[in-house]
Amino acid sequence: MKSNNFGTLFLVSTPIGNLKDITLRAIETLSNVDIIVCENPSSSLKLLNTLNIKNKKLIQLNAIIERKNTSNIISILKQGKNIAYISDAGTPLISDPGNILVNDCINNEINISPIPGANAILPALIGSGINSDDFTFIGFLSNKKSTKTKQIKQLLQYKNTIIFYESSHRINETLEILKEVFPKDNKICIARELTKLHEEYIRDTISNITLTDEQSKGEFVIVLEAANLENQSCETLSDENILNKLKDLIANNKLSKKEAIKQISKEYNISKNKVYSISLKI
Ligand code: SAM
Repeated sequence: MKSNNFGTLFLVSTPIGNLKDITLRAIETLSNVDIIVCENPSSSLKLLNTLNIKNKKLIQLNAIIERKNTSNIISILKQGKNIAYISDAGTPLISDPGNILVNDCINNEINISPIPGANAILPALIGSGINSDDFTFIGFLSNKKSTKTKQIKQLLQYKNTIIFYESSHRINETLEILKEVFPKDNKICIARELTKLHEEYIRDTISNITLTDEQSKGEFVIVLEAANLENQSCETLSDENILNKLKDLIANNKLSKKEAIKQISKEYNISKNKVYSISLKI
């Protein structure tokens, strides 16, 4: 319930590929608001033209100018105008700008009304064949290979399905890192070009997954089965995983080699001799 005469900020989801995924409420809201704030005016104009929504005032808001433009948008909302915010594609604020704007609206007691719709996370998850009861969404991993490797090692600890976005520039590098770090039989699904002509779900185990040149193009969501190493017996925990675990404990938890061997042997019920022999590779 609104307790003031301020306008409302509508957070409107737009399609991630197939324009038919726009909702009736999204069309109605975009048609009725006074102003549309958008991440990318040229792609938003295309969408608005397709929906036959003409002559709307557009204000740009992207990650670079979000802080600068937010105060202007807040003052327009305070004058009682209704505004819709749309990102380039999908649900705004999901790996897209808008957090500053929403928080400033909340701090200024401006009503926020999200209009749900398309996003890339949920179709990837439900089409993956990997447990959808419980999941963690990571957004984008780092662009820097060394930081990304550290982040992927941390994902080994997650006990639920992991979902993240990846770009065509880095998809193959990320798969190589996953092959080095994750258990061989771990399930993975690469959901590419969702809702578009070349939509594809590539489902495999970590050790077998490979993409052709054609499959390396487009937009991607990676869905990973939880590694859940704690539940793996010594037969399923590969030597490579043991080695990575050892390296992790030494580098990140600052354990000595001896302490790391002891911890892994105890935690995974693997003989100290076996862990010791693997540790010689460090
Ligand atoms: N806000 C969007 C959403 O609701 O999903 C995500 C924006 S984020 C900047 C863009 C990333 O989302 C892409 O790099 C890709 O990883 C993923 N993505 C967006 N559209 C996609 C699609 N049609 N198929 C697969 N992944 C997609």
